[in-house]
Formats: sequence, structure tokens, C-alpha cells
Amino acid sequence: EGMKVVIAGRPNAGKSSLLNNLVGKESAIVTDIAGTTRDVMREHIHIDGMPLHIIDTAGLREGADEVEKIGIERTFEKIEQSALVLHLIDARSANLKEHAASIREEIALIEEKAHDKQLLILANKSDQGDEGELKAFFGAHEYLAISAKEKHGLEELLEKLKAMYDWKQLAASQSIVTNARHLSALQNSLADILKVKEGLAMEITGDLLSLDIRAALAQLGSIIGEVDVDKDILGAIFGKFCIGK
Ligand code: GDP
Repeated sequence: EGMKVVIAGRPNAGKSSLLNNLVGKESAIVTDIAGTTRDVMREHIHIDGMPLHIIDTAGLREGADEVEKIGIERTFEKIEQSALVLHLIDARSANLKEHAASIREEIALIEEKAHDKQLLILANKSDQGDEGELKAFFGAHEYLAISAKEKHGLEELLEKLKAMYDWKQLAASQSIVTNARHLSALQNSLADILKVKEGLAMEITGDLLSLDIRAALAQLGSIIGEVDVDKDILGAIFGKFCIGK
């Protein structure tokens, strides 16, 4: 599935715009009316071989109606399930001035919910913001100034995502074997390869080693379909199950 990334933020912070830019298609509805993205939206995207599972959330507006409250609850749930939280803030000068206290509250809330996650504040709409003001406002908090609309800072965001990406998690998730026959073939193949390794240590001749190499390949071939295994599969089926004529 890739690493779970949550984009959290108030209605109108620019979550849908950012998501659309990252995904590269008009997948989320972008409007001027606060609270449009009411439910949780998901997207699977690949950036330079890095699968991301993006979840756009409903806003975090206080005093919200019932539908939005459910959305806020879900936002917190999603944060809990994620590995990385992008906290999007409407960082236009006017907004920072007018809503300073509630934005600080929101930062504290998200920080608390995401205490064991990687967290990055995205100061969006920086095309209508001021660099010095942003620095003063965010202080010790790590943040990245972007503009989803003007497509500023998105390259930098991707670089940061790559740096924060948990490649180990990806490697682990790609090693899942879901089929019992495949598991058995992989185990047999490994046993044959270990025999080859042993043989090499004992300086056994190549023609003998090749027998085990061939056997290991045949096991892998039975998964990827490069050898004709009809006989083997049918043999296994008839060997394990009682099948009538
Ligand atoms: P959401 O509710 O968080 O999903 O926000 P939207 O993506 O729907 O954006 C809300 C409004 O903000 C829209 O009118 C966008 O065009 C506008 N907007 C989004 N990003 C930017 C930005 O970087 N700069 C400016 N000036 N406006 C933006």
C-alpha cells in the first residue's frame, strides 16, 4: 500500500489543491466554500518509485455540524493509522493575524495526536504570505512554505517526503507472500540455494552445483510461470486433495 500519509488541515487550507498537485489530476473538489471536503478521501500515488497512500481529511473547524464532527473524528483516526502527517495551514498574512490563537491551538492539537509520527507543517498560500512573518509565527516548529495554487515549494516537499520515507516498511510490505503454494516454492528454492552455497564452500564441481541451481530456478519458475508446471501442480492437487473423476 505504501506509506500512509495524512494531509490534515482546516477547510479551505488548500488540502484538495495540494492533493491534486501531488496526484497530478483533478481528483478532489476545489472550491472557495469552507468545509467542502467533508469525508475522507484516499489516493494512491507513486512519486519516483515511492508509493504513498494519501488521505485528505475533513477540516478541523470547531463548532462544526454533525457531519463535520464525524470527519474530525476520522481525521484523528487517520492520523493514528498514518506514518507521516502533513499539517496544512492557511498561511496568508491576513489569516495568520486574524486567527493566530486558533491556529496555534490547532498546531498543538495535531502535535499531540501525532506525537509518535513524523510531522511536517506546510505553510500553504505562501504566495500571499510573508517569509519573516512565517518564521516568527512558527518559531521552533519545522515548517515548509508552499503554494499549492502557484505550485511553489512542491519540489522541496517531494524531496522532504523522500527523506522521510520509510523504505524499510516498503521492503517489508513487498515481501508478503499470500499464496501457500508460492510460500512452499520459495522455501524449497531457498533450501536448494543453501545446498549450492554449501557445495561452493566444499568446492564441489560445477556440473553437480548446477543440479541444485536448476532445482532452485524451477521452484521460482513455478511461481512466475517460466516452466511448465502443470504436471507438478496437478500432482500436488491430487496428492493433497481427494478429487474424483
Ligand atoms: P481544502 O478545503 O483544504 O481542500 O481547500 P481547497 O484546496 O479546496 O482550497 C480552498 C481555496 O484556497 C481555493 O479557492 C483554492 O484555490 C485556494 N488555494 C489553495 N491553495 C492556495 C495557495 O497556495 N495560494 C492561494 N492564494 N490560494 C490557494
